[in-house]
Amino acid sequence: MLFTDVDGTLLSADTYEPGPALAAMKTCRDDNIPVILVSSKTRAEMVSLRTRLDHGDPFITENGGAIYLPQEDWQKPPGFCEDGPFWSLAMGTPHRTLLPVLQRAAARCGARVHGLSSMPVAEVIRCTGLAEQQARLARMREYDEPFLVENEEPRLLRCLERTVAEAGLTLTRGGRFHHILGGCDKGGAVARVMTLYRQRRADTIFAAVGDARNDLTMLRAVDFPFLVRRPDGSYDGAACFKGVVCTDGVGPEGFAQAVRLFADALDRGA
Ligand SMILES: [Mg+2]
Repeated sequence: MLFTDVDGTLLSADTYEPGPALAAMKTCRDDNIPVILVSSKTRAEMVSLRTRLDHGDPFITENGGAIYLPQEDWQKPPGFCEDGPFWSLAMGTPHRTLLPVLQRAAARCGARVHGLSSMPVAEVIRCTGLAEQQARLARMREYDEPFLVENEEPRLLRCLERTVAEAGLTLTRGGRFHHILGGCDKGGAVARVMTLYRQRRADTIFAAVGDARNDLTMLRAVDFPFLVRRPDGSYDGAACFKGVVCTDGVGPEGFAQAVRLFADALDRGA
């Protein structure tokens, strides 16, 4: 089975279109390879996106903040709650706890930060290029606050990271935003989902595709990690490690290539 980041990987970082990734997802469906979406996006955004992509597999929101399994395909695992049409498991620190820590850290470090959840919708649209409805859904944070630093420089970021860590929280970085979150990362949520799939089939083989630093723990957790190029053609050095396969394509092109490579490896009996 395959885990994938969404923005900048499954969807173009510029247009939010899946392009060639759509056909690759269909290949996975035809080959019975579940595709688990693992994103910084909110539950509200992911529910909307799943309808658009006709996606029926589990998904992970807000950088590992929560896991959602469709009830129609799954028995309720221990620890999960009934949650609309899903079984859900909260893994992250609640959003209301994150904001005051970020504000205190910003004040101490002299950083001017702008959190996504309190930006006017027009500002979210300007920063992200999202359509208005999607921008509204993106502000409905539960476990992760994306933010921009107006006076960004390495010294400030180190100070923020250190100060936030003293409060038991962590910073990470996606394609566009810094993120503050606590008690979770993509890798932790992915590991939990891997356990569930292994209980169904012990010999399940896992791949993952990502584009940024916040994908590193997810990529490290699987058998076949793939990194896609960013729109400027570069790779995020913070997501590189020995053993990761760097695809040639940018975003969705790279995703489609990763699916081909993974399917070929499975055919060879990996
Ligand atoms: Mg990404």
